Amino acid sequence: MTFAELKLHPDLLAALPSQYQQPTRIQQLAIPVALTGQDVLALARTGSGKTLAFGLPLLQQIKLQQAKLQQAKLQQTKQDEAAPQALVLVLVPTRELATQISTVLQPLAQAMALKLVILCGGIEQEKQIAALATGPQLLVATPGRLLDLLEQQLLIPDTITHLVLDEADRLLEMGFWPDIQRILARLPVQRQSLLFSATLPAELEEIASRLLIDPRRIEAHAGNSLVDEVEQRCYLVNKGSKAQALIGLLKQDIWSQVLVFINARDSADALAKKLNKAGIDAAALHGNKDQQVREQTLNEFKTGRLRVLVATDLLARGIDVTALPVVFNLDLPTSAPVYVHRVGRTARAGRSGLAISLVCHAEAEALAAIRTLTGSELPLHALEGFPVTDRVASGERKRPPRDKQANRRSAGKRSIKQFKSNSSR
Ligand code: ADP
Ligand code: MG
Repeated sequence: MTFAELKLHPDLLAALPSQYQQPTRIQQLAIPVALTGQDVLALARTGSGKTLAFGLPLLQQIKLQQAKLQQAKLQQTKQDEAAPQALVLVLVPTRELATQISTVLQPLAQAMALKLVILCGGIEQEKQIAALATGPQLLVATPGRLLDLLEQQLLIPDTITHLVLDEADRLLEMGFWPDIQRILARLPVQRQSLLFSATLPAELEEIASRLLIDPRRIEAHAGNSLVDEVEQRCYLVNKGSKAQALIGLLKQDIWSQVLVFINARDSADALAKKLNKAGIDAAALHGNKDQQVREQTLNEFKTGRLRVLVATDLLARGIDVTALPVVFNLDLPTSAPVYVHRVGRTARAGRSGLAISLVCHAEAEALAAIRTLTGSELPLHALEGFPVTDRVASGERKRPPRDKQANRRSAGKRSIKQFKSNSSR
């Protein structure tokens, strides 16, 4: 199937990156449905092209609607005219993802003579108010800043007819849900809502379906599943050896770029320092950093000027780094869907990739949850040079037998040899 067969506007087709030969599976399935104006709940794996799957049909629809709105504006009072309005609202969990989505959609919007504005924290509100005054049709926002603007009546949401929740399950979780509810309460009831994600835990399904009216559920891939092209490796190491193990692995392999996930912000800074000391080009990125530094660091990583980025889960969702070869989990996330998203930063757009997790005894429970969610075996291997001397904590002796088996398997030498053959030392 070609993009042209999706009945997209010629200006949109012309503005698509020329290297895109055909729509991805989720694009093929979601675009025709979204174009009809129906609500959609779409599940598709990480890196499968969800941004354009909602972006293209919405740009096309608002182009048509814009003409109608302009007519309606003629009948508005002067007071209404002063209030900035928009047609499409894309909500995302992080500023970095808002920027990325805007970078993808901006050229397409421009080709359709439509304006896009980012509304998120870390940017001066004054600047955003000025941008809103230019009359954008498309808003890409994080919930906090959007709510601020709505509550101050600096943005009137009455004309919003299309809503996207990207990384939908994240936005429905407790951290965001109260804000999302307050935002939804202000949006027109008559609207198209599109929910996109790679993961949707069963407990959020119900909330998700309550947001939608007569939705079409589109599953390009089974929810919570990992991309086939990603190879996963788990090494059992001592808790205190993880940084050294990472350094050892980074020195053995010549990966062009590496993204390292770590649970705590402080540890991200400390680890980046340790890597620097070991002569490895690395920087840390997390939510406590200044927004300008966040942007600059991510930009350096995305453009290949920075080799190793140590990040918290701020970067777990949605972030697209072209051809990133490997992702590390310095520790396992306690929420299994987060594992799917972290690992999904590699093996994107049909490429292959490697995900390496450094696991210690204390993480047995997290590992079990990830195994269950993803249906991956994830056997634990021994890492040469890093013998495990940590004891299993007493409370964890009663782990499911499957873990014990995996531990025993890890004593086998095959995996270590396999690893050796990858290194050139
Ligand atoms: P997702 O949101 O599903 O994780 P993205 O929308 O971020 O995925 O897209 C992942 C990558 O795939 C991006 O680098 C994007 O440029 C690329 N991509 C998107 N659509 C296509 C396509 N039709 N053909 C080739 N590459 C594509
Ligand atoms: Mg995405």
